[in-house]
Amino acid sequence: MLRVAIQKSGRLTEESLELMHECGIDFAKSGGKLKALAYNFPVEFLFLRDDDIPEYVADGVADVGIVGENVIAEEHSALQQPVEIIERLGFSRCRLSLAVPRGTPYSSVHDLQGKRIATSFPNILRRFLATHNICAEIHEISGSVEIAPSIGLAEAICDIVSSGSTLLSNGLQEVETVFHSEAVLIARPLSADKQKIVDDLRFRIQSVGRAKHNKYIILNAPSESLPAIIQLLPGIKSPTITPLATSGWNAVHSVVPEDTFWEIIGKLKEAGAKGILVVPIEKMIL
Ligand code: ATP
Ligand code: MG
Repeated sequence: MLRVAIQKSGRLTEESLELMHECGIDFAKSGGKLKALAYNFPVEFLFLRDDDIPEYVADGVADVGIVGENVIAEEHSALQQPVEIIERLGFSRCRLSLAVPRGTPYSSVHDLQGKRIATSFPNILRRFLATHNICAEIHEISGSVEIAPSIGLAEAICDIVSSGSTLLSNGLQEVETVFHSEAVLIARPLSADKQKIVDDLRFRIQSVGRAKHNKYIILNAPSESLPAIIQLLPGIKSPTITPLATSGWNAVHSVVPEDTFWEIIGKLKEAGAKGILVVPIEKMIL
């Protein structure tokens, strides 16, 4: 039995639960319950505050956990036992940025020399300042960091940003990116039987992730266009080609990466492809 820590209620919760669902792991999460047992996979979920997850994993209360990379980067050095990132999960992307009140002259990170900076991430900030040889006073506060400059607590802040709208509404301008974060799966060193469950979980997570980054494509093409079309569609191994009832025509099936998708579609049309269908892939196992 593997114990998996998930944020109880917050920005990571919904997508963490969705990922488990996509991995085919079913359980009943009812209201305020702190634990849930999966029906069809040997895991038990623990629902915790995200800041506590690295420590619970390090201490062995949980075996693995899903947290923001920013949380593990912040707490890593304080943990008594080693905890490692074993999988990047691609959701809850955000960045930790430095911001100053709008209108403050700012040309480089050296302008922060000797300033007071409010943050909930003192360790990440300290490392960033040390890399740039900046001496600044770090004020650790646990929430509402963005109001610190307006109440005279600090001249700058270092906080989580995704769209930047919170900064804007508090009269702040983003001046440096300190850290890029996404949700990650963390683990402590595990016994062989638990490691086997983690390997299976990672295999499922990777199959789900790969499927999200690819599309299944079906198109019709005249035989003379096939060489050019095959060149454009590498597929997993190579495209599947089957003849249509109309002679001289074929159906071509393949897999296309999401990031080059529109570019490939344009080239396929130029090469003579007709009736192109694009279908989402649920799981992709290599
Ligand atoms: P808890 O009550 O569990 O301590 P919290 O308030 O500390 O929750 P959340 O705001 O739910 O934490 O954020 C959890 C994680 O989600 C953060 O550590 C970060 O990695 C990510 N995150 C935070 N803000 C954003 C955002 N605006 N967009 C995307 N991801 C974000
Ligand atoms: Mg928290």
